Amino acid sequence: ILEVENLKKSFGSLEVLKQISFDVNKNDVIAVIGPSGSGKSTMLRSLVQLEEIDGGSISVNGEYMVKGGAYSKPQQVKQIISKMGMVFQHFNLFPHLTVRENLELAPKLLKQGTVAENRALSMELLEKVGLSDKADVLPAKLSGGQKQRVAIARALMRKPDILLFDEPTSALDPELTGEVLRVMKDLAKEHMTMIVVTHEMEFAKDVASKVIFMDNGEIIESGNPRDVLTTPKMERTKTFLHRTL
Ligand code: ATP
Ligand code: MG
Repeated sequence: ILEVENLKKSFGSLEVLKQISFDVNKNDVIAVIGPSGSGKSTMLRSLVQLEEIDGGSISVNGEYMVKGGAYSKPQQVKQIISKMGMVFQHFNLFPHLTVRENLELAPKLLKQGTVAENRALSMELLEKVGLSDKADVLPAKLSGGQKQRVAIARALMRKPDILLFDEPTSALDPELTGEVLRVMKDLAKEHMTMIVVTHEMEFAKDVASKVIFMDNGEIIESGNPRDVLTTPKMERTKTFLHRTL
């Protein structure tokens, strides 16, 4: 469903992504792990053009967003990105809009669906993340875990083919991470295709179909969670896992 080939990205003289390649198949849950500064966020942000890449290719369902470093026409890039939903560490909700308005803003601006359809969908998704009763409150009235569940519901509004998560629980108090991970596990059970940058090794072990370990802008090792997390082959993976235990 998603193919990434030889992705390259530098910030000035700093090479942050060095020829990253990986495939995501339908229903995959990919956990991306690795030390701080290894390029995990940059990789994820590149997939939705929050960063412009310097070289390589990204395609979704066989359609190229960027091929050999050259971006497709803006309309096609937009179309491809619209099939991906992104959830950030810091929620990025609009503080002046209610929960429901946060969900309905993008479809409204993009003129997708009727008001009634979007209203029905937003209520359905809020119910799915257990927040039907919070539809009309402002984000400031919510706990971090609730805010993140709203952000997930918002990402689902565009009916994405792939959901991208960048450390969705890292900004949360430990007692609030469980409720967010539960929503993500439910999505995995419903066969949502996901890429999750995470430090939650339990989640990676229990939910992921594949783990990618990144270090210093490269994929050092990838494979099924049991192999990568319990019997890693590469020295750098071992060192990282020892440090995080
Ligand atoms: P963390 O686990 O801390 O979130 P990460 O693996 O997500 O780390 P990135 O945020 O992708 O790492 O950053 C990779 C490298 O790129 C870091 O050295 C970072 O300082 C650098 N970097 C990221 N964004 C920019 C930017 N906009 N301008 C310059 N350098 C950047
Ligand atoms: Mg990051």
